[in-house]
This record gives sequence, structure tokens and C-alpha cells, in this order.
Amino acid sequence: MNRRRVLSLLPGGLLACVALLMNGKHVEAKNMEHKSWRLTEEEWRRRLTPAQYRILREQGTEPPFSSPLLHEHRPGLYVCAGCGLALFDASSKFESGTGWPSFHAPIEGSVETRLDFRLVLPRREYHCIRCGGHQGHVFDDGPPPTGQRWCNNGLALQFIPR
Ligand SMILES: [Zn+2]
Repeated sequence: MNRRRVLSLLPGGLLACVALLMNGKHVEAKNMEHKSWRLTEEEWRRRLTPAQYRILREQGTEPPFSSPLLHEHRPGLYVCAGCGLALFDASSKFESGTGWPSFHAPIEGSVETRLDFRLVLPRREYHCIRCGGHQGHVFDDGPPPTGQRWCNNGLALQFIPR
């Protein structure tokens, strides 16, 4: 069931409650497709591996502890595997123990968030602002200085050492 169908099944009152549950945090539910990188589905399939396509274009999740980027500790930049936009600096990476590469903050202006209703409790999904590619989910149980945990699929990123 896709997101639009789920949203259409939810009464407005419930949506309002969900928004309140998010405690006034910035919540967006805008169209994920971004204007500047509008490829056809066929072009995306040619550009990405099947596993990357599943994550970036269909909001999939890779198995935990499967990404080689978990063991990447060099300085550098993590860029979107879809379009190459720099999303995270290695200085914001931390060991979350969750099995997915985790960061305490994205590079400013590189991602946007929206509510994801795929599980019972809504989560905050985030995606590359340039190509709309799904990256992961952000939680409020991260370390200082932000207290946030940006939990990212390794397959949705490429690492460029400095
Ligand atoms: Zn991108």
C-alpha cells in the first residue's frame, strides 16, 4: 500500500493527532519528487543497482550490519548515491550500534523530511533534496550536539574520502 493510499484512508482528525504527537516538530508531507533531478523510472533503473533502486526510489531498507560504510572512519563526505549531492560530513558520523550508518546532523539544506506512515507509529523519513532519493529516518535519541540520529541506508550513500 503506498503512502498516498494510506493518507487517503486516514481521517483528518487522526492526522491532526499525529501532528500533535510529533510535539510541534517540523513536519512536511510534500511531494518527494524534486524539480531539478527528474529522471524517468527507466533512467533510474539504469543508473542504480536493483538494491539501490529499492531503497532510493521505493523507500526500502537494507539489512542491518550489511553496509561496509559502518566501518568507514576516514574524514570525507557522504554523498547521495542517486545524484552525488553531499549529504553528510564524516565528522557527524557516530557509532549507534543499530547496524546502519548514523549521523548526528546532515549538511545544512541537503535533505528534507516528511512523515512516514508505513509502521503503526509515524516516523520521520528524510530524502535527498535534489533527487528525492530516500535515505533513511531521523530519530531523537542521538548524541550531542544535536540529540538526533540520522539513520541512513549505506547503499543510498557513496563515501568520498578527503
Ligand atoms: Zn540525490
